[in-house]
Formats: sequence, structure tokens, C-alpha cells
Amino acid sequence: MSAPAASVSPVRGRFAPSPSGRMHLGNLWSCLLAWLAARSAGGGMVLRLENLDPDRCRPEFCDQVMRDLEWLGLDWDGQPIYQSRRTEAYAAAFRALEDQGLVYPCFCTRAQRLAASAPHRSDGVVLYSGRCRHLTPAERETLSAQRAPAWRVQVPEETVSFRDQIQGDYAQNLAAECGDFILRRSDGVYAYQLAVVVDDAFQGVTQVVRGSDLLDSAPRQLWLQSKLGLPHPEYGHVPLLLSPDGRRLAKRDRDLELSQLKERFTAPQLVGRLALAAGLLPEYAPVTPQELLPHFAWDKLPRQDFVNEHIYYFRNTQNHW
Ligand code: GLU
Repeated sequence: MSAPAASVSPVRGRFAPSPSGRMHLGNLWSCLLAWLAARSAGGGMVLRLENLDPDRCRPEFCDQVMRDLEWLGLDWDGQPIYQSRRTEAYAAAFRALEDQGLVYPCFCTRAQRLAASAPHRSDGVVLYSGRCRHLTPAERETLSAQRAPAWRVQVPEETVSFRDQIQGDYAQNLAAECGDFILRRSDGVYAYQLAVVVDDAFQGVTQVVRGSDLLDSAPRQLWLQSKLGLPHPEYGHVPLLLSPDGRRLAKRDRDLELSQLKERFTAPQLVGRLALAAGLLPEYAPVTPQELLPHFAWDKLPRQDFVNEHIYYFRNTQNHW
């Protein structure tokens, strides 16, 4: 492990995998680019295991994720943190938002949330209607006797905008495009959006590089950071690798899981293919992440989610390169 970043450079990136199964090609892709972005700037890199959800994240997967990153040649500084051990920190942030009068209990069932009166976004996502925002104390008491509430934060009619390192300018009106979102589930588990801002600040993260499926979470996170008095990191949302039929790669693409890939490819072969897909190399060559450092540049990276011919090589073909 190399020295902690702070003494070397102000850039500090992070890996934040959710250990709900084996890593697949899509995770490797974003982890590789996150590592290259931070290390090529002479920066540090920290690791956080996002195992908030006790039902989905098994302890053995955490160890596996770390072994998989190491196998690929990706390192990090210091000890990883585990979200399952950070409940106190999330509770403190939750209370800070409560103290600002921003949090309210939500008793809605799934069916009520999806009720036709709720506004829809252009991409079909149903926004929360705000139904429980204005309940009276008496109504809250009655409903509390029937079910444990989830807890939502009340967002303002405010547009949050930022410049993404890869996607360029991005803006979102929180009320119109996001709606009041959940900070804590009814089973007591704190939500990703809250945990991620608390942890990024705690770990001194200055640079967040992750999949573009999280681009529309960034405005919520920037806003929460402001409300909690936390610094804003810079963001770079890498396009997603799509399978040849145009779908996002998913866990069901078993042949693209690292356990399977490892049987067919060496780490430098995998990294070389990913580097080619990222536009970092002019032609295919097996390469280590370290060797790629001088080739990294933000403006070489593709911006759109894409189906890449190189992905075919990772499918269930024999290793012939
Ligand atoms: N844990 C999330 C994932 O593995 C990433 C969260 C983030 O990078 O903010 O998809």
C-alpha cells in the first residue's frame, strides 16, 4: 500500500463497491477509471465497502471484492471502512437535518407511492407526491401505531448544477426532478444518499468517479453536503458498458463476473481491453493499471453509455488474444 494521499496531493479518489455479489465487468471498468483518475494526478485512493443493506451484503463478499481489486492491480491507502459499522455517523447527520426541520416521517405504502396523482419524470420515474409532508401531529401519531415510517428529507424548489468531469454541465431541479427522498428506511437502515455524503467527507474524498447511472444522484448529494456543511468533491461519471443487445451489464451476465473472467483472462489482458474501450490505448496490448497511468486523460474517455466491440471479447469466447 502506498502512503496516505493527503501528504502527497490534494486529490483523493475512492472505490465504493456494494459487496452484494462478485464484481462484474461493469464494476471493474469504473474501478479502473476511478483509480487511474486519482493516481494519475498523484492522488490517494481510499476504499469503502457499501454494505448498508444487511439483507443483500454478505461479509464474505467484502473480502472477495478486495481480493478482486488487488488481482486487477488496483490498490488503496489505509484501512477500508465498512458502512455497516458507521451507523452512529449516519444518525448524527440525520439528526442535523432533523434539527433544520427538513425531515418527516412517511407512512406511504408502495401502492400509495405509485398512486396516479404522483408526478412522473420524463424518463418514467415516479416522484414522491409529498403526501406525508403535511400530516398533522395527530395524524402522525395515529399512523405510527399502524406501521413504522420511513424518513424523508424535504427538498426545496431549487436547481442544483455542477460541471461533471466527463458528462459536462448537469443541472437538476430537486423538487421537479427528484422529489423528497428517503434518508432512512422503515426498517431503520440509513439510505445510500445520506451514507455516501457522510462517508465521502469522513474519508476526505475530493474526487468521485463512478458509473453514469449515479449521475442523477449527484445533485441530491451536493445539496445534502451543503445542508450538512460538508465539502463538495468533484464528480466524473463514466459511461456504462452495455451488452451487445444494448442492456446495462448486470449480475445475470454470469460470464462477465470476475470469477468467470479470471478463468479465461489474465489481469493485464482484461485491463488492456478495458483501456482500449476507454480510448486510453490506440491498440490492444496487455497492460497493468500502473503502466496505464501516463495514458490517462479525462478528454479521451467516451461520454455516452456504449456498446463496445471489445466487450464481445469478454463474453463466453475462448481466450485467443
Ligand atoms: N456502491 C455503489 C455501487 O457499487 C456506488 C456508489 C457510489 O459510487 O457513490 O454501485
